Amino acid sequence: MPAQAMTQTTFGKDLAHEIDPVAQLHLTYVYGPVPSRRLGVSLGVNPLPVETKVCNFDCPYCECGWTVSDRPAGRLPSVETVAAELEAKLAECQAQGVRLDAITFAGNGEPTLHPSFRQMIEASCALRDAYAPQAKVAVLTNATRLRQPNARAGLMRADIRQFKLDAGTEAMFRRVDRPFGALTLARIVDDICAFDAPKMLQSMFFRGQSAGAPIDNAAPEEVEAWLQHVARIRPTEVHLYSLDRTPAEATLEKVSRAELEAIAERVRELGVRAEVF
Ligand code: SF4
Repeated sequence: MPAQAMTQTTFGKDLAHEIDPVAQLHLTYVYGPVPSRRLGVSLGVNPLPVETKVCNFDCPYCECGWTVSDRPAGRLPSVETVAAELEAKLAECQAQGVRLDAITFAGNGEPTLHPSFRQMIEASCALRDAYAPQAKVAVLTNATRLRQPNARAGLMRADIRQFKLDAGTEAMFRRVDRPFGALTLARIVDDICAFDAPKMLQSMFFRGQSAGAPIDNAAPEEVEAWLQHVARIRPTEVHLYSLDRTPAEATLEKVSRAELEAIAERVRELGVRAEVF
């Protein structure tokens, strides 16, 4: 999922441009280290194909471009392939004296769509213990796979989970996240509530035009509905942000930092930590 917290490598940008002039895809399974806005110095792990995005959302703000498929079968890297890349990168960081804060699963779409996601997390935790014991294994996810046993077990094993929550109402959810199939906001919020481990939320706010009509998930009534979900979920922390890189849909606009701070203040009034990025 959300690769938006990570910075693309120069190498990746050049090749990504040859593949798709809009999408900012990661062209390796492990990238960085990069200064993540939210997680410190982080190695990114992309357990999805390098040549295309795979997700069950099609968020208009996605920096990986528009979604082509939610079916990764046949094009996925093996656990061994990703682990070998990660080990090589960890060894390189160790040799160069780079102190890592995190190993972050994100990449070209939704990381929990990999059917061996749990095994990838376990392999990453073992490598972390060997090379960078101070680093946290984090996952940025759209929280749509919490009922899937392998994905759920992988998320439970990770140190940090950041669940996406971009909307307060079903109507806005269908526009800001453009889910595939029968996914609903109500089901996702229920699943996050039932997830029995510490959890953080990450929320993207923006406005502008999407699919030819105005969109604004920072409108007062939307924020009120979103706050009710936050109050119910009781996350350890909420991270709020707006557009930082080129979105899939060019007609979107950034929400000001002052507006994000005002929303963050409402979260804090609920007794929940909130930070604007
Ligand atoms: S969840 Fe949205 S932002 Fe994240 S990868 Fe999928 S489409 Fe992109």
